Formats: sequence, structure tokens, C-alpha cells
Amino acid sequence: MKTLLPTSTAGSLPKPSWLAQPETLWSPWKLQGEELIVGKQDALRLSLQEQQQAGIDIVSDGEQTRQHFVTTFIEHLSGVDFENRQTVRIRNRYDASVPTIVGPVSRQKPVFVEDAKFSRQQTTQPIKWALPGPMTMIDTLYDDHYKSREKLAWEFAKILNQEAKELEAAGVDIIQFDEPAFNVFFDDVNDWGIACLERAIEGLKCETAVHICYGYGIKANTDWKKTLGSEWRQYEEIFPKLQQSNIDIISLECHNSRVPIELLELIRGKKVMVGAIDVATNTIETPEEVAETLRKALQFVDADKLYPCTNCGMAPLSRQVANGKLRALAAGAQIVRDELLAIGGH
Ligand SMILES: [Zn+2]
Repeated sequence: MKTLLPTSTAGSLPKPSWLAQPETLWSPWKLQGEELIVGKQDALRLSLQEQQQAGIDIVSDGEQTRQHFVTTFIEHLSGVDFENRQTVRIRNRYDASVPTIVGPVSRQKPVFVEDAKFSRQQTTQPIKWALPGPMTMIDTLYDDHYKSREKLAWEFAKILNQEAKELEAAGVDIIQFDEPAFNVFFDDVNDWGIACLERAIEGLKCETAVHICYGYGIKANTDWKKTLGSEWRQYEEIFPKLQQSNIDIISLECHNSRVPIELLELIRGKKVMVGAIDVATNTIETPEEVAETLRKALQFVDADKLYPCTNCGMAPLSRQVANGKLRALAAGAQIVRDELLAIGGH
């Protein structure tokens, strides 16, 4: 990336109200059939344009074609029965009705590759594409076949690798795996979670990222955060091993969170997508607030490895708020960019 402090988002952005009910997670589609296909493409085009106009450097599809960041991927796989549902506890936090694994899982056809090709035709900017990570996928399912979290994660890693290779061929510049589960199951992360992620990126030449956050601003997550105390040290458990991994970029929550910023020292050497936008509030950050978060991160991340970002996806926010936050992110990054260039000029 040639730009200093290239900005991006964690992934999801609000959908237009004609496509899906705004400010709702898992919002059902308002269109059907051919209209839905064209509607999703129009929304994707719009999302790219809004990111570009806000000054975002690395754009994404805004997840305009997906209902949910994990389920939409799983829906395309065989071996999963969506009629046969079981209630499980997601990330030890809240109960949800989820599909059941009833046989060997496999990817019969590409999931997002056509969307990625379409996105590539719309923009010359670098594109980041988010996929669910293997550990977060198994946490969103009931397994009645493998009976082993690790075995199932390994199978998903192989499937994700197939998809990732085709996304890369479609012109995606950064492939990101969303692993909020990494913030919960530390022992599993260190035992096999990171190894599975490395299997998912095997053979890729494009850049790779892992996004580890404290979740969307929904009630189950904000309630959970209240139980975490005054310092959120979850990252400390997994950073040492992530630092040693082949993953290029680590995407993290920082602004307004209680993550001690010095934990970033544990991943020194990695590129870091620093969350400088809080997605759990409608209050739009000022550019100066964004700049302040980035300056703090610069104590632990080299300037050429710092990627200003959002804490998490912004799908549940209004478009107006999300757009304001995108602009604040770009403006805040510009403040720090100017400061760095001024120092460099001396
Ligand atoms: Zn997130």
C-alpha cells in the first residue's frame, strides 16, 4: 500500500432501505428473485461510491450481498441442514437457533466470487474482502457429524482456502477472516485456532488479515462488555502466537474500548488495522478524536504498518451515522498523516 495510513472499515456497512430494513441485524431482503440480484449489485455500487467519497482508501463490498457475516457463507455449503435447528450458546454469551452439521461439509460452488468480480469492475482502489473465520463458523452451528470442534474447524479452513484463492484471482487485494471467537476461546485459539487460520490462507499471494473484536453494538455484546472489568486484556492471551503467525494484518478494536493500548506491543512487526471508530454508538467521532487514537497506536505500531479502521462492522447503524463516521475516519487519518509528513520533512 503506497498511501501512508490507508483507511478501511472492518467490513459491513448499512444497506439501503429499499434492499433491507435499516438499523437491523439479519434484516430480511425486501426484494426477490432477479430484482434481488440486481438490487444487491446496485447496493454494492452505492456502498463503494460512499466509501470512496468519504475518502476511504481500501474499500469493501460493505457486505451488501449478505444477510449475516457467518450464516450467508454457511448457507452455500453442503453438509449443513438449515431446517434442523438447535439452540446453542454463541461465544458463551447469548443463545441462538442455529443450523445442524449432518454430514461432511463442502463447498459445491463459489460463494462470493461473482460479487468480488463485480466489485473489481467498479473500482480501481484496493479491495478488502471479509470471510468468516473457521472458529467463528463452528461457534455458529450445532455439530452432529464431526463431534469435534477442531475437526470441523479444519474442514472449514480447507473450504475457506478454496474460496479465498478464487477471491484473490478475482482481484481482491486483502482477504480478511472475522474471528470474534478468538476473543473468547483462548486455549483453542492457541491450540488449533491460529493453525486453522494459517490453513485457510495457505498459498495466497494477496495480503491476509484477521479481525478480532468485541462485536457489534447489540445488547448481548454491550452486556457482556460490562462484565469484562476496567481493562480488557483478552488480546494478551492470543497476541504472542498471532505475532508468530503468517497472517499479515491484525484488525482490532481500540477507540472507546477498554483494551490497554500497550498490548499492541505484543504484535510489533505486524500490520495493524486500528479501530478508531466506535460502532456501538451513534455519536460521530470528531477527526481529532480519531487522530488521538491513531497517535496512541503509533507508540506501538510503526507508521508504515498502521491502518486506520473501524472497531467492527457498521451494518446496524443508520446510513447517515455510518457515513459521518467514515468521513471522520478519513479526516482523522489525514491529520496524523500530515503530522508524520511534517516530521519526516525535517
Ligand atoms: Zn467485528
